[in-house]
Amino acid sequence: MKTKHTLSIIAALVLSASALFAKPIAGPKGGRILTATAPHAEFFVDASRNVVISFYDADLKPVSPTDQVAIVTAEAPSGKAKLEFAIKDGALVSVAPLPAGDGYRVVVQLKANATAKPTNYRVEYHAEVCGECKRAEYACTCTEAGGDHSGHGH
Ligand SMILES: [Zn+2]
Repeated sequence: MKTKHTLSIIAALVLSASALFAKPIAGPKGGRILTATAPHAEFFVDASRNVVISFYDADLKPVSPTDQVAIVTAEAPSGKAKLEFAIKDGALVSVAPLPAGDGYRVVVQLKANATAKPTNYRVEYHAEVCGECKRAEYACTCTEAGGDHSGHGH
């Protein structure tokens, strides 16, 4: 009996681990993790609508930015806006807020340093809160049917 019980616990652990793995990684600040592998970058919009990009290692421990360069292009209804970033409180923070409104595309361009090859990440910026995971829609971690994997742009 005891052995059988242990086995079912292991099976349950394996199942929940693989279920977790299939879900998007929850950004520690409540934002969206852009990266599939470490070092991770999180896109978060703070209360004053500034974009905060935080970096994490594989265990989601914060890593202070050093040479990373970020540029965000907000494809807002009022027109495209380019946001530049400065290091503040251990993260890259946009020097200007996102344009008004939501429901528009935001392209985050990240470079490991000024001369590195850039990687673009697309985020559909929806500010409303998801009823299920209680996170902002742009950072929602609920698994969606036919999930959108186009976020890892080239
Ligand atoms: Zn959700």
